Amino acid sequence: MTSGPVVERGEPGFEQARVDRIFNRRLTSRQPAAVVRPTTEAEVVEAVRLARSRGWQVAVRSGGHSWAQWSVRSDALVIDLGGLHEMAYDDATGIVTASPSTRGGAELAPYLAERDRFFPGGHCPTVGIGGFLLQGGQGWNARGWGWAAEYVVAVDVVTASGDLVRASADENVDLYWAARGSGPGFPGVVTRFHLRTRPLPRHVAHTVQAFRLADFDEVMSWLHATHHSVADTVEIVALTKTDRALGPDPVLLVTALAMVDDAAEADAALAPFRSNPALDRALLVIDSEPTTPEAERARQLEDNPEGHRWAVDNAWLTGPATTVVPAMRRAFTTLPNAKAFTIWFSMAPLRELPDMAFSLQSEVYLASYVLWEDEADDERCLGWLEGAMADLEPVTVGQYLGDSDHTRRQAKVLSEDAWARLQQVCADRDPDRLFVGYLGDPTNRNGWD
Ligand SMILES: Cc1cc2nc3c(=O)[nH]c(=O)nc-3n(C[C@H](O)[C@H](O)[C@H](O)COP(=O)(O)OP(=O)(O)OC[C@H]3O[C@@H](n4cnc5c(N)ncnc54)[C@H](O)[C@@H]3O)c2cc1C
Repeated sequence: MTSGPVVERGEPGFEQARVDRIFNRRLTSRQPAAVVRPTTEAEVVEAVRLARSRGWQVAVRSGGHSWAQWSVRSDALVIDLGGLHEMAYDDATGIVTASPSTRGGAELAPYLAERDRFFPGGHCPTVGIGGFLLQGGQGWNARGWGWAAEYVVAVDVVTASGDLVRASADENVDLYWAARGSGPGFPGVVTRFHLRTRPLPRHVAHTVQAFRLADFDEVMSWLHATHHSVADTVEIVALTKTDRALGPDPVLLVTALAMVDDAAEADAALAPFRSNPALDRALLVIDSEPTTPEAERARQLEDNPEGHRWAVDNAWLTGPATTVVPAMRRAFTTLPNAKAFTIWFSMAPLRELPDMAFSLQSEVYLASYVLWEDEADDERCLGWLEGAMADLEPVTVGQYLGDSDHTRRQAKVLSEDAWARLQQVCADRDPDRLFVGYLGDPTNRNGWD
């Protein structure tokens, strides 16, 4: 009765289907009831109706990149959208439609580049647009170009009643509101995104400065005071990582990527980085040199290798440099291994958000990414992450869903108003709780307050 085979727990192929395309290999032991892999929207509708008739809840997988493996849920039917695959661009409107499992950098970006268009997808090219967009989507130059969810003009959704509907600013507006920021709390299955695109930047240039960790306080205090004034065409990221080309010890990198029209504009936009007071001690300086989106994505792939165990956590930070910089010290200067990295991502000056579920941010985003291979390192790596995040709590206002795991730490992810409104949308749209919703029962409160 359903199209597309349903693999139930205990049947051959179930284990493979349970964790198929899951990026984090620190795999959960959660056991869904079954997995189904539809290849058409009609099959998604059938899958939702099947879940209803069997008394299963529904979990959804698009690109499989949720760190906490939100798609692998106990006793649910996993609807794995990996087989649903289409992209279409409309020249007249500049709108691209794409399936949720489309990989933002690996598939959507080259498709649009051929048409001279750009979409601010996830930094790592393999991230699926489904989970990314639903939770907000911190894409390229989010500080200047906004959250990727702001580019969603409509979504096609299979609702809990098994109907396929379109949600936009004109119809099913509650679902449209929720689809831009509720993440795994969204009460439906999105089968297609309709996205605004931007012109492909004509010139991309970067500035990269590398420092010893001894310079951390000085460089980060300066950056804290400076980032607001940098042009909104520049993505600013500071990170600590081990870069073998610069030696065996981790280094602090200040990176700025200008996506503009020409070299002169890039040069002007990147000029503020020349006033870094520690520049004479830099181990490396690249100053406004041309690069390409492809080269930047390739670097992301190197930093985010497949086949690893991962633990990730994050914080929206607020306060003066005198309190924020010391709080960040452990996360930046004591990485637990040579693969781990911590990023500081500027969102300053904060842009006003449209009315959508995504509603919590601050001028500084910090996230630590710990990756390792041997299970024996689990405790040490997880312990380090917990300690680094605990130091930040006094200057933390909340978290970004995309790098969160509420089974390990409770934090605020939406504004209080948005959280209350989302509960109402879910109660209206999914009164029987067909969809599994958030993992770890988030309270939308900072657990340490
Ligand atoms: C290497 C790496 C790099 C990353 N870089 C970035 C980045 O630059 N910026 C950023 O913002 N995030 C980033 N992330 C986080 C990533 O965006 C989130 O983990 C996101 O949820 C992944 O989306 P997905 O579709 O691949 O994941 P999935 O695990 O398939 O989906 C996650 C959850 O989202 C919901 N969902 C997904 N698709 C649908 C749908 N079609 N309908 C209904 N619900 C759905 C479900 O609850 C699902 O379980 C990165 C993650 C990784 C692993």
